[in-house]
Amino acid sequence: MPSWTCEQCGAQFPDSAAPPAACPVCEDERQYVNWNGQTWLTREELATRHKLAWCDDLGVAGFGLEPGFAIGQRALLLPEADGCVMWDCVPLLTREAVEYVRSLGGLKAIAISHPHYYGAVADWSEAFGGVPAYLHGDDRGFVTRPHPAIVPWSGDSHRISDDILLVRTGGHFAGGTILHWRTGAEGRGALLTGDVAMVAMDRRSLSFMYSYPNYIPLNASAVQRIARAVAPLQFDRIYGAWWGRNIGRDAKAAFDASVRRYLAAISDHDAAIE
Ligand SMILES: [Zn+2]
Ligand SMILES: [Zn+2]
Repeated sequence: MPSWTCEQCGAQFPDSAAPPAACPVCEDERQYVNWNGQTWLTREELATRHKLAWCDDLGVAGFGLEPGFAIGQRALLLPEADGCVMWDCVPLLTREAVEYVRSLGGLKAIAISHPHYYGAVADWSEAFGGVPAYLHGDDRGFVTRPHPAIVPWSGDSHRISDDILLVRTGGHFAGGTILHWRTGAEGRGALLTGDVAMVAMDRRSLSFMYSYPNYIPLNASAVQRIARAVAPLQFDRIYGAWWGRNIGRDAKAAFDASVRRYLAAISDHDAAIE
C-alpha cells in the first residue's frame, strides 16, 4: 500500500490504498489547501521528482529537498560524541542521505519545532533504529502519521544532552519549540528557531506570527512569553528554517530588539491618544 505525502505542506500519512480525505495541517487556519484542491504524492512519486541535497549552512550540516518542495525548510544536524541530533525534518528520506548522516556519526535523536516540519519524521527514526523523535505533546493533534518513536514531551523544557535543550515558547503553535545549542557558534551558543521566531529577510531581525502565509500576527502577551522563554539562554547566533536564513552574530541583541520593535508595531498607544 502506498504512503501519502501532502503536496502543499509535506506532512506524511500512514500507508493506505487510497489517499487520505484531507490534510489537517493544511486545513488549519495557519496553512492553506492547494489552490487547485488537495493533492497527494506517493513516496515513490516524491522520490522521483525530488532528491535530498546537503551542504554546510553557517558551520552546520543541513539537508533539504531539491527542487524545493512544500514549505521548503531544511533540516540541521548537530554533531555530538554519540551521534547527531536532527533539528526539524524534511518530507523525504533517501538512501544517499542516510549514508551521509552515517558518515557524520549517525543519528541519536530528532527534535522538531512544530507541526509544519514533522515531514517524514517516522521514516528518519526508523532508518536509525527507531531513535526518539521529540515533538511537543501540546501539538499531538497534528501528528498525521502516529509512530512509537514519537516522544510527546510536556512542560516548558526538555533536555536532550548536556549541550542541547528544547524550550517550548508557544506562539506560532501551542507546543512551538526552539532548540538551544550551548556549544554552537564556536562555543558562543546558538538558537535554532524554525519559524517559531522567524529570521527576517534582512537577516538582522526576527518576527513572530501565528500564521505566515495568512498574515495573522501574535498578540503582545504571546510575544512576551516567547521573550521570557528565551531570556535565560546565552547565544550569539540564530539559525532559521531555510537555507541561509540565519543571524550570524550578535543574535541575542537582535532578538531583544526585534521583540521591542514587534511590540511597538502592534501597540495601540497612538489610537488611545486620539
Ligand atoms: Zn498538508
Ligand atoms: Zn510554521
